[in-house]
Amino acid sequence: MSLPADYHMHTPLCRHAVGEPVDYARRAVELGLTEIGFSDHSPMPQDDFDNWRMFDRQLDDYVAKVRLAQTTFPQLTIRLALEVDYLPGHENWIRSLAARHPWDYLIGSVHYVSETWDIDNPAKLSEWKKRDAFEVWQIYFERLSQAAESKLFDIIGHADLPKKFGIRPTQPCAPLYEKFLTAAAQASCAIELNTAGLRKECREIYPSAELLQLAFQKKVPITFGSDAHAPAEVGMNFAEAVALARSTGYRETYRFNRRQREIVSF
Ligand code: ZN
Ligand code: FE
Ligand code: FE
Ligand code: ZN
Repeated sequence: MSLPADYHMHTPLCRHAVGEPVDYARRAVELGLTEIGFSDHSPMPQDDFDNWRMFDRQLDDYVAKVRLAQTTFPQLTIRLALEVDYLPGHENWIRSLAARHPWDYLIGSVHYVSETWDIDNPAKLSEWKKRDAFEVWQIYFERLSQAAESKLFDIIGHADLPKKFGIRPTQPCAPLYEKFLTAAAQASCAIELNTAGLRKECREIYPSAELLQLAFQKKVPITFGSDAHAPAEVGMNFAEAVALARSTGYRETYRFNRRQREIVSF
């Protein structure tokens, strides 16, 4: 059985990834993947919002790089997508981004729990010491629920990102997950099994088995992503992600083409 599509990959335009899309595609072909998708960090209305995304003027350049990979590897299906930051109030900006190119899908991710704190940023790790972990998780999952409810996204990225550095609340989080997953199910928005968590301090796929079990119960669909920031990370730990999905009960995943979805077995 072939591996599911790797729908979460970056490019050097975001300033913290290496390798051109053609290099990621070459690696995917080597691994025997049949489908991948690029989902680099989308521009913000202000280019100086932070330092880990492409500039607005680079959006066409990004699309051209992905198109070059498509023509270089015609045997591989390569999707054009974005990982878009969800912040409350950004809805119109996100709608305008969605209209600029014929995206195959949009991943909605919450990295920011305030205008200035991106919780996965290693440079801001000290912020975690000033906050109560559960409060951060509450704000994060509230925003994630809003992201799903907005219907702006096809997939929600790394659904339990706050665990990245291994800092976890002692309180039960299932009620937070439930509210988010109810919103995702209602919006028929997928969540991704993102293997990058295995490469971080939390040493665990995003999301946890607990969250994924609740997602399965609520019939929330799934996709798969390596969140590769280098060609060597393409498809990384996909066997493990597939095993987790199957042990949870999942047998189907989504493919996307111009924001239309199709169910495929894995
Ligand atoms: Zn990144
Ligand atoms: Fe992300
Ligand atoms: Fe990413
Ligand atoms: Zn990501």
